[in-house]
Amino acid sequence: MSNLKEFIQHLYEEYRLLHFGSLADYIPELTKANPDWFAISVVTKEGEVFEVGDITENFTIQSISKVFVYGMALEDCDRMTLLEKIGVEPTGDPFNSVIRLDENSKRPDNPMVNAGAIATASLIKGSDPTDKLNRMLDMFRRYIGRDIYVNAPVFMSERATGHRNRALANLLLNFGIIDHNIEEILDLYFQQCSVVVNCHDLAVMAATLANRGVNPITQSKAIKPCYVRDILSVMYTCGMYNYAGEWAYKVGIPAKSGVSGGIIGVIPDRAGIAVYSPLIDNRGNSVRGIKVFEALAEKFQLHLLDSPLEKCPFLNISDISKG
Ligand code: GLU
Repeated sequence: MSNLKEFIQHLYEEYRLLHFGSLADYIPELTKANPDWFAISVVTKEGEVFEVGDITENFTIQSISKVFVYGMALEDCDRMTLLEKIGVEPTGDPFNSVIRLDENSKRPDNPMVNAGAIATASLIKGSDPTDKLNRMLDMFRRYIGRDIYVNAPVFMSERATGHRNRALANLLLNFGIIDHNIEEILDLYFQQCSVVVNCHDLAVMAATLANRGVNPITQSKAIKPCYVRDILSVMYTCGMYNYAGEWAYKVGIPAKSGVSGGIIGVIPDRAGIAVYSPLIDNRGNSVRGIKVFEALAEKFQLHLLDSPLEKCPFLNISDISKG
């Protein structure tokens, strides 16, 4: 990792000049982000930190929360119960699509699309909505290693405009996946998406997964190690929206993005990586984030299927995209 520090500085200088993409605007509060914000953070399993840019800039975690709430549901329910209600198949459809839920599966394909994440939120245990929220926040705190809170305006904004999520929840009720407490379940889902983090926090969370569930900085146990493989598997196959296949091909590490502009990547037993830049492409992935991960994967041979013995020739990533 000796030249990692210089390399991420170089990536920051190079890609901060990239002004493609747009702010997510279907949640009105997200348009308040500054399009110039850009940060890269790498936290190793030993707790070493390499970072550059707007590391302490706050934003809401959005879909990246789905990874951690899925882990919590695994602990709350067990693997088989979860698999009966939520599959692990990538969809190839946009994250908020209703189509496959209605036409094919009658259950969400995976926990990384909205339908699956809403079903996952419905499985979180607690005596009442406040207890469920508090348990969820405690779970996030174990991964992050500090106190965290929900951004109320973003939560209210999602709640006021989340008609598509409400439609998904009604379909889930129709198919018997969730019960009648639709508004309560949606509130918990909107709250998990509205948890405030910064880029450093995300890298620590990713590093905790890389370290088999133990936060490498605080040493707190965030999740039982036996569930880390399940989480990383769905991240690898489903974590990057309808770009997941191309991501697995080019970058090759379990990852998850969110529409506020974060991407986390996990290099098992080595490190967690996070990039934050709120300009996203039409699939919902941070434009600068993808560039940084592609470059890091190439430079340090991070692809899980790379042979340690033989370096791959340079892939011209943009040519593959056009294909
Ligand atoms: N809260 C957002 C939604 O439900 C999350 C979407 C995302 O980050 O992909 O639409």
